[in-house]
Amino acid sequence: MKIAVLPGDGIGAEIVAQALRVLERLELPLETEEAPVGGAGYDASGDPLPEATLKLAKDADAILFGAVGGWQYDKLPRAKRPEQAILGLRKHLGLFANLRPAQVYAELAGASALKAEVVAGLDILIIRELTGDIYFGQPRGIRKRDDGEREGFDTMLYSEGEIRRIAHVGFKAALKRGRKLCSVDKANVLETSQLWRDVVTEVGKQYPDVELSHMYVDNCAMQLVRTPKQFDVVVTGNMFGDILSDEASMLTGSIGMLPSASLDANNKGLYEPIHGSAPDIAGKDIANPLATILSAAMMMRYSLQQPAAADRIEAAVKKVLKEGYRTADIAESGAKQVGTQAMGAAVVAAL
Ligand code: NAD
Repeated sequence: MKIAVLPGDGIGAEIVAQALRVLERLELPLETEEAPVGGAGYDASGDPLPEATLKLAKDADAILFGAVGGWQYDKLPRAKRPEQAILGLRKHLGLFANLRPAQVYAELAGASALKAEVVAGLDILIIRELTGDIYFGQPRGIRKRDDGEREGFDTMLYSEGEIRRIAHVGFKAALKRGRKLCSVDKANVLETSQLWRDVVTEVGKQYPDVELSHMYVDNCAMQLVRTPKQFDVVVTGNMFGDILSDEASMLTGSIGMLPSASLDANNKGLYEPIHGSAPDIAGKDIANPLATILSAAMMMRYSLQQPAAADRIEAAVKKVLKEGYRTADIAESGAKQVGTQAMGAAVVAAL
């Protein structure tokens, strides 16, 4: 199993190093190879996604990604900015399904802005379609009307095939979890959503063991803060998913804990924490590596078909939290506050 390791910028190298220690401890036949990406890619070869890095990513079975970005790159032309590397990888690798779990560990329930009893034990997975919808639909633009007024327009567009493939991802993920799938749309207003609902329902017939429900996006936004534990897996389009996945992640209150995956049609994927490169704390050994370690667990489950290894990593993370280990971002009084490397070491020891 070959893993392309792309640490990127800021805290990227520090957190990815801890995930690699954890992977090594699994004693599986894993081969890893590192390459620069983002600002580091630009520094190395004038391109945020150097050709050799893209080739490595294409040849690998999975990609472990840190984070990209930094103030020193903010003035570069858009095509040279670090963030272009992520868009390029998504495009070249056909990564169309974004999986964002939001889990609240009992020990960290106090970190949420919601009442602890509303979120304690929360474990939901938001699946967002990543390559279609109003973000990519044509035509789009800003035009001048005959009366001289400018108007902006975008096209919300989904083909049956695009809906079908993300629906399959949703049902398959539900089978690996609590067997409940909620499809989110706006079928009361949008034609695109009506087709979405029809196609998801049709695909659902192939998954009799998964309980399918449908919900309008406005209601879902409300339910996520009212009773978030009613959800298991949520599947939705690009724009609704963009908003709902951020909302769901904040139910947990700790950005340093949240992993993500972006998958292609064959379950090859790019795995990364949802947070950015955190330049404000880079190089200080205080970043929380758990989101990256949990991303490595997702990689084991979804791309490398090693569910037992995924379970082991997740159980080890739970154990260190239970033992009271906390990085600064999740520390409360009385915790054993540790740095990035010590947190990685604690997870390795728990394994
Ligand atoms: P950020 O997520 O990097 O940081 C937001 C805040 O959360 C900061 O205070 C940071 O210190 C803290 N934080 C983030 N991760 C943490 C961790 N693991 N442990 C402890 N604290 C953590 O977002 P930002 O500050 O808006 O962006 C910084 C850079 O990251 C920008 O260049 C931005 O473009 C980039 N970015 C990259 C990605 C990505 O690579 N996928 C995502 C978001 C932002």
